[in-house]
Amino acid sequence: MTDHNCFRWPRGQQCAVSLTYDDALTVHHESVAPFLASRGLSATFNVVAHNGFTENTEAWKRVAALGHELGNHSLFHPCRRDPPESYPWLAPHYDLCHYTRQRWSDELRVANCLLEMIDGRSERTFGNTCCHTTIGQGEHETRFDDIVAALFVAARGPLNNAVVRPDTLRYSALGHFSGDARTAAELQRLVELARSQGGWIIFMFHGVGAGTHNLFIDGEQHGRFIEWLSAQAGQVWTASMVEVAGHLRRAGYAAAP
Ligand SMILES: [Zn+2]
Repeated sequence: MTDHNCFRWPRGQQCAVSLTYDDALTVHHESVAPFLASRGLSATFNVVAHNGFTENTEAWKRVAALGHELGNHSLFHPCRRDPPESYPWLAPHYDLCHYTRQRWSDELRVANCLLEMIDGRSERTFGNTCCHTTIGQGEHETRFDDIVAALFVAARGPLNNAVVRPDTLRYSALGHFSGDARTAAELQRLVELARSQGGWIIFMFHGVGAGTHNLFIDGEQHGRFIEWLSAQAGQVWTASMVEVAGHLRRAGYAAAP
């Protein structure tokens, strides 16, 4: 069933691309989600399930209705403040260094419940906050792959600039690239790398256009990249993480040892 060198993709496509947009930004529901849908593409919007999200749930219902995935990006967006001066915007009580496994699992589970009330879906993926993969500190620092494995179809793992292939497939810790601040040409080259490997490339974006987030891709470059992906649709499968992970699971691809 499985090919040892490259994945088999639907309709003979040569690789898969998942675009993930983090932090539930206004630009995502106002323009990015409708733009992608108008080009026949679906993506994953990793929403932080508080603040802007809970204040405008109708907007996110519309995003889901366009065929996009609402990914879980936790309730309160905790990250590791290690060293303590990192992430100064983050409240000290949302420091993953001080989270217990139970607290993290509880937070992600409640966020899943909230998202299911918005989109009615019971399966989704996890977009890790600040790309962090561990909780606790010092000798108590542990990876949380097993927590996300129990709650999600798949999850982003380390920001390691690696294409996902059969020999690196870990559903609960998928390698990915940052798409922030890149040009359309750079992003296209990375997709070509994935195509040459028959793999799955996952991009993490934040803002689209200046002023939308401190991390962002230029709006025009983003637009060019999306138009290119749309033109490549016969060979390049652009779909949300939950769709691509679901395909691989149904096709029988087991996690790499
Ligand atoms: Zn985030």
